[in-house]
Amino acid sequence: MERPRIIRKSAGDLPEPPHLADYAAERAAFSWQRARSELAGLPGGGLNIAYEAVERHARGERAGHIAFRFLGNNGAREVTFAELSGLTNRFANVLKALGIAKGDRLFLLASRIPELYIAVLGSFKNGTVVSPLFSAFGPEPIATRINLGAGTVLVTTASLYERKVAPVRSQLPTLRHVLVVGDDGGSADIPGTLDLGRLLAEASERFEIVPTRPEDLALLHFTSGTTGTPKGAMHVHEAVVTHWATGKYALDLHPRDIYWCTADPGWVTGTSYGVIAPLLHGVTSIVDAADFDAERWYRILQEQRVSVWYTAPTAIRMLMKAGADLARQYAFPDLRFIASVGEPLNPEAVWWGLEAFGLPIHDNWWQTETGGIMIANTPAMDIKPGSMGRPLPGIEAAIVQKGADGRLEMVDEPDRDGELALKRGWPSMLRGYLDNEERYRRCFAGDWYLTGDLARRDADGYYWFVGRADDVIKSAGHLIGPFEVESALMEHPAVAEAGVIGKPDEMVGEVVKAFVSLRQGFNPDDALRRELLGHARRKLGAAVAPKEIEFVGVLPRTRSGKIMRRLLKARELGLPEGDTSTLESGG
Ligand code: ATP
Ligand code: MG
Repeated sequence: MERPRIIRKSAGDLPEPPHLADYAAERAAFSWQRARSELAGLPGGGLNIAYEAVERHARGERAGHIAFRFLGNNGAREVTFAELSGLTNRFANVLKALGIAKGDRLFLLASRIPELYIAVLGSFKNGTVVSPLFSAFGPEPIATRINLGAGTVLVTTASLYERKVAPVRSQLPTLRHVLVVGDDGGSADIPGTLDLGRLLAEASERFEIVPTRPEDLALLHFTSGTTGTPKGAMHVHEAVVTHWATGKYALDLHPRDIYWCTADPGWVTGTSYGVIAPLLHGVTSIVDAADFDAERWYRILQEQRVSVWYTAPTAIRMLMKAGADLARQYAFPDLRFIASVGEPLNPEAVWWGLEAFGLPIHDNWWQTETGGIMIANTPAMDIKPGSMGRPLPGIEAAIVQKGADGRLEMVDEPDRDGELALKRGWPSMLRGYLDNEERYRRCFAGDWYLTGDLARRDADGYYWFVGRADDVIKSAGHLIGPFEVESALMEHPAVAEAGVIGKPDEMVGEVVKAFVSLRQGFNPDDALRRELLGHARRKLGAAVAPKEIEFVGVLPRTRSGKIMRRLLKARELGLPEGDTSTLESGG
């Protein structure tokens, strides 16, 4: 298949007129204040995420529209905006009756069940701060996070409680109540806990939203732990303005869309874009409780008639591993836009989208700290595969370097590496790290927020991810980004995935070493190793190509699917592995 270096787009060819048709004009006209005025605000003043996401629609013409379609083992459950209003009011009343007040912290430990979504939104209504945990965490990471966030309420399921919370319950001094959902979605009778199903059934459907202000805390999100111990990022209700604007520009949500965000709400993507943004735009979201399975996913895309799909590179690479032929056994006439976040998206994956779906995959970039998408490939924008796109309206990005005197210098010339920085002031910017003021202060230099990622900008204003500052390899005077090396390896038909590290070397500082997992049908032998080394040298040149390749079954990754290069390195060097609380088991 031909692999275009630029995928040209024209607004006129798209099935929906895109929200961001004229990039320059929209950016020039945009202001956060104007975006804020598109939202309702609380009737008595103030701003609340749940009012914008649920009540605005429940009281308007979309009241009967389906907000969520939950796919479970026992068929689908649909919830309209009006029903979601009643259910979340009930949850808010449950909290209120328990004496849980504004500013208290509620933790969530559940798979993608309806109660989780109801709890998130009901908590916002009560002014209660929400912190989602990943249901696959073990007891220790759960306890650490609840204690760090001083959680007073936990919502979980019967089996998760028994297996993961009960063993550490005595070590959770701030936790006052545990609300439990039965494993079949029904009631649960466990000593020391409350039956959420019964409490919801008994609660009133009417609730007056606690008047939250834009700067009131709404969410605590732990980072993925890719580079070290996860940090707890604090977000406020005003973040909803970013969720709205990015749902519009980056995901291009339109009223008719059927939208599927595959991220788990245990991570920021699953909350910002799995719960909040689609509701703000009044669209129907598909929520699938099951884990990844290639055939199941294709079936969902087809049967649910998904039109906008937001997923992650790791999922796309798994689909690639299963082969484009599998995708072609299904039809996706409604699918019009595919986006991806969380890790660099290799050009190979963008092209594969064209092959499997007839649509390229649109990379976008953001992090837990930014609370929402900052840099994106949007529907009407030409795509340069391998680039994460351009800053969205309202976002000012820059490439910076620390000068000799420690002062920040802007790198204005194109195509030069430096740290990616964002001008402070977008609404969903983190307001602090839990218990780590010093680390938070280090994120800023004057007006700029420093992301810790290295990138470059080309002459057209597209940003290219180079690597995390911690992962960049210094070899014989060159700075080498692992992403470039991994992407080149992935262009070889045998390679399913690659993770690249720098290995200390007396002569050159560090040498490049690649860990490679193979696609089905390829043998990890010396002949293939030599072929891959040669392939990489041809693509990258001898200075950048790996000197060593090791074949592995799978790469260690976080539960949100990111390759943990620091673990590859620690294992290679026989060093301690550090915090592995977010490591996916079997990695
Ligand atoms: P920790 O901060 O605990 O090490 P983390 O940085 O992986 O974990 P997240 O906030 O979930 O935690 O991830 C954000 C990071 O993921 C970004 O800083 C960047 O390194 C990477 N990332 C996200 N999207 C992209 C993308 N489109 N291209 C390249 N990298 C991306
Ligand atoms: Mg990070």
